[in-house]
Amino acid sequence: MAKIIEGKRCASNLKIKITRQANYLQEKHGIIPGLAVVLVGQDPASQVYVRNKGKQAKECGITSIEHKLDTNTSDQELLELIAKLNQDPVVNGILVQLPLPNHIDSAKVLKAIDSTKDVDGFHPVNVGLLSIGDKGMIPCTPLGSLMLLQEHLGDLSGKHAVIIGRSNIVGKPMFNLLLQHNCTVTVAHSRTCNLEYTIQSADIVVAAVGVPQLIKGSWLKPGAVVIDVGINRIKTALGTTKLVGDVDFDSAIDIASAITPVPGGVGPMTIACLLYNTLIATCRQHQIEMLTT
Ligand code: NAD
Repeated sequence: MAKIIEGKRCASNLKIKITRQANYLQEKHGIIPGLAVVLVGQDPASQVYVRNKGKQAKECGITSIEHKLDTNTSDQELLELIAKLNQDPVVNGILVQLPLPNHIDSAKVLKAIDSTKDVDGFHPVNVGLLSIGDKGMIPCTPLGSLMLLQEHLGDLSGKHAVIIGRSNIVGKPMFNLLLQHNCTVTVAHSRTCNLEYTIQSADIVVAAVGVPQLIKGSWLKPGAVVIDVGINRIKTALGTTKLVGDVDFDSAIDIASAITPVPGGVGPMTIACLLYNTLIATCRQHQIEMLTT
């Protein structure tokens, strides 16, 4: 029976460290880290995410400044707000909640964010810095997934990791992170011919597909460590709905040595890493060393 990798507990521990660092910044330097969260439109899931991020930021001693804009906001209006936030000294991190309404050019908006305030790590400068292993902002979900792997496995050197999914926000940055940590990395995607065969030799499986319960326990190498990034809402036989991952948890739990649950695995780490990135951004902008503990 696999060990459950408790993302919630790991995220709570990380938030304790963030709070300690935020208190230190305020007491020693009079600085309160500031995170600006921009939400355009009424998407219910996005509204919940933004509310959660704001609440958890406050709990950690980070000021959360929410900017809620109308669905019909133009590119120009959004770009003007970002330009203002880029200049604002009390704003250390800027997050634009995705997805943006269709009429807005998301790539243009993400590029407009000052890369040193880009706490989501999506700016091309940060993408480039990650790929050359230099100091930038690392996207939150891959960073949280890496922390969970390190917490469970310690050193990742020499492990064969298979990532399923090649998106810019999860799969590709995860590839760079695991490569940096000396894994041998395979990236599978929608055109991969034999996914089952590709996964068979993996010591680490990171699933970021968006297809509910796609990966079966029988596909896994016995003892594999599974990080399930997927969040999918499905209908149950009772007519209600529930959240499941991209991995078939019930069959995987008998084969894997450790697995993240959905919900309660990668999700909580994503938010904790957003706050962690805000803290890193604040410290770098003020040229202050982070506390080590
Ligand atoms: P995406 O749609 O941008 O990318 C999905 C990737 O999966 C693509 O690269 C595609 O090639 C690949 N894929 C699709 N079908 C496949 C198949 N049958 N076999 C192999 N590969 C296939 O999705 P994303 O934004 O990377 O998100 C992936 C999942 O992770 C979603 O369920 C999303 O909700 C979830 N997610 C969770 C968090 C979190 O905090 N836990 C954060 C981001 C995304």
